[in-house]
Amino acid sequence: MPNKIALSIEGLTVSFDGFKAVDGLNLYIEENELRVIIGPNGAGKTTVLDLICGKTKATSGSIEFRGVELTRLPEYRLVQLGVGRKFQTPSIYENLTVLENLEISYPKGRSVLGSLLFKRTPEVEQKIMDTAKMIFLEEHLDTMSGLLSHGKKQWLEIGMLLIQDPALLMLDEPVAGMSVVEREKTASLLSMIAKGRSLIVIEHDMEFVKRIAHKVTVLHQGKLLAEGSMEAVQENPKVIEVYLGH
Ligand code: ADP
Ligand code: MG
Repeated sequence: MPNKIALSIEGLTVSFDGFKAVDGLNLYIEENELRVIIGPNGAGKTTVLDLICGKTKATSGSIEFRGVELTRLPEYRLVQLGVGRKFQTPSIYENLTVLENLEISYPKGRSVLGSLLFKRTPEVEQKIMDTAKMIFLEEHLDTMSGLLSHGKKQWLEIGMLLIQDPALLMLDEPVAGMSVVEREKTASLLSMIAKGRSLIVIEHDMEFVKRIAHKVTVLHQGKLLAEGSMEAVQENPKVIEVYLGH
């Protein structure tokens, strides 16, 4: 049985003062798929994520997620629909502990009223513990987040998204600045969390991409340059010319 398409992007274009950062892009991502987007700097990778999560409004085209058109919805609605996004630099609360960061990210803690009524029930505690374990921080629950290494901060931010059970998770260069060991652990983390949701990862580290990608999309000048298995993409002369050869 063919896998179900979760995210369907057609003719997506955004123009900044006449410059098309994303230009007529078609992209289809399945449920439980881990897709990696690669391409040279300025190719439009981050802008694609900005468009999907509603941070940037499309000039034209369509983004449909599980049958719902996203392009005209405000950002908070996209969050409710399960669209989660991690930016290039970790955005965590440095003066709170790991546990507190996870706790405030738990869905019921999000609204003001929710925060006031928030109780650390056994169910919430279990979810926090499970998440902390998954992101390799179970020994650091009481550590002030600002004291974590850069890699551990990245994991914490992934955990803060995971605790919300996103249906579509997008990560922009998640292993930038990580050690080799941290990269390996992140690879297994991402492979695990792609079960039950779709994952889009932007990454430059080709060893890492090889380990995690189900399929690779190559962007160049806002357009789709190539798409397929890592092997096929690596052998593609156009991809070698504009990206991998450098
Ligand atoms: P990548 O992530 O692939 O390196 P980006 O998506 O960040 O590329 O940027 C693609 C192009 O769009 C770049 O030339 C960038 O300068 C331009 N761009 C991105 N966002 C904006 C914006 N808000 N206004 C104007 N130009 C932008
Ligand atoms: Mg970028």
